[in-house]
Amino acid sequence: MPLTNVQARDLATILHPYTPLHTLPQTGPLVLDHGKGVFVYDTQGNEYIEGMSGLWCAGLGFGDEELIEAATEQMHKLPYYHLFGGKGMEPAIELGEKLKEIAPMPVSKVFFTSSGSEANDTQVKLAWYYNNALGRPEKKKIISRMKAYHGVTVMSGSLTGLPIVHGDFDLPVAGVLHTDCPHHYRFAEPGESEADFVARLAANLTALIEEEGPETIAAFIAEPIMGAGGVILPPEGYFQAIRPILAEHDILFIDDEVICGFGRTGNWWGAETYGFEPDTLSAAKQMTSAYAPLGAVLVPERMVEAFEAESAKLGAFGHGFTYGGHPLGCAVGAKAIEIYQKRDIIGHVRKLAPQFEARLAKLADHPLVGEARGKGLIGGVELVADKATKRPFDAKAGVAGRMVKFAEARGAILRPIGDTVALCPPMVITEAELDLLFDKMEAALNDAE
Ligand code: PLP
Repeated sequence: MPLTNVQARDLATILHPYTPLHTLPQTGPLVLDHGKGVFVYDTQGNEYIEGMSGLWCAGLGFGDEELIEAATEQMHKLPYYHLFGGKGMEPAIELGEKLKEIAPMPVSKVFFTSSGSEANDTQVKLAWYYNNALGRPEKKKIISRMKAYHGVTVMSGSLTGLPIVHGDFDLPVAGVLHTDCPHHYRFAEPGESEADFVARLAANLTALIEEEGPETIAAFIAEPIMGAGGVILPPEGYFQAIRPILAEHDILFIDDEVICGFGRTGNWWGAETYGFEPDTLSAAKQMTSAYAPLGAVLVPERMVEAFEAESAKLGAFGHGFTYGGHPLGCAVGAKAIEIYQKRDIIGHVRKLAPQFEARLAKLADHPLVGEARGKGLIGGVELVADKATKRPFDAKAGVAGRMVKFAEARGAILRPIGDTVALCPPMVITEAELDLLFDKMEAALNDAE
């Protein structure tokens, strides 16, 4: 198909993130124009059901009038201010209070950033600052996991455990360690039960900590469900096995809820779905339903106390972003949480979860599908070359990418991650719309066969 004018202008201008730059001129960019509910429309007027909430973030769908009104009101009132040097503003206070109220652990204070990457970068700096304040300057290494996704800045990209993010970007930096990915389907030994797999991963984590020396390790970071690594659900008992190991060695547990937070898994937080209590927490994305960029770090009392003591020594707490706690983001975030509560969005996710899981289970029968997995309204379908042996496709086959293109041609937006096709529709999706999305996905799988 010849490129439209707007596609040609895009190609001439935009350096696209996470895009196969070498093939984009042939496939052409998909230039979106507007959205309503769970649908978006390209510049040609074609309609797509949005199966990914953009990037796992537009949980309330598109064109929500209440969010737009909250944003507009704030833009008129105070379009910008910051929190440096002890300045404050009502939207940041209100959102901070709401976050403290719904957090899955006791929280003393909230530090605002502009994104998830900045939140996780901040987590590392806070862990370092904390240990310096406590007089243990050697306790600095961070343990992450293979296939984790925590962002793309120099440090958050180092925490990420994906070769494509490291590759020729010269990451990870020193001091970041990666332990096992808890994906039973892909990484269990033949015949290994989930319980044995969990025990092996816990033993490997202990061995890593002992090898490095617990006195050198500051924190462990994990997503409850690994999103951009391929929608990987933790096996039963995984976090219960990991949590005490961290506590025993005084290693902070950083819970990255950037995708799982705000109802996605059927609870406010993935930590609640999987029954663990973190020390600190990173939030972003659905915090504002992505109508404005914003991230947050939820900090416990003992860390805040240490920061206050350190600040007294140094003169100031020397960390902050120009747009951290932007009033637009905070006003939208406070409104989004109000909407999640008053429209019972979590109840809605729970109501739809059985349908979501049943449709995933049906996809699991398809000859191309090795594993179809999901929780709440987040899922992944892993495509394999051989269903019986789980043999993956040749790395260059790009089968998930092809399937996603077929889905796009049928009017559905999904996301390929390696050989997995991810699915994370707006949480406001109706039962009929969810069926429509799965029907299109099934048809695209048949196209790709
Ligand atoms: N953490 C997780 C779990 C994510 O999924 C992402 C983004 O997808 C990030 C952090 C980084 O967030 P951002 O893209 O806002 O920097």
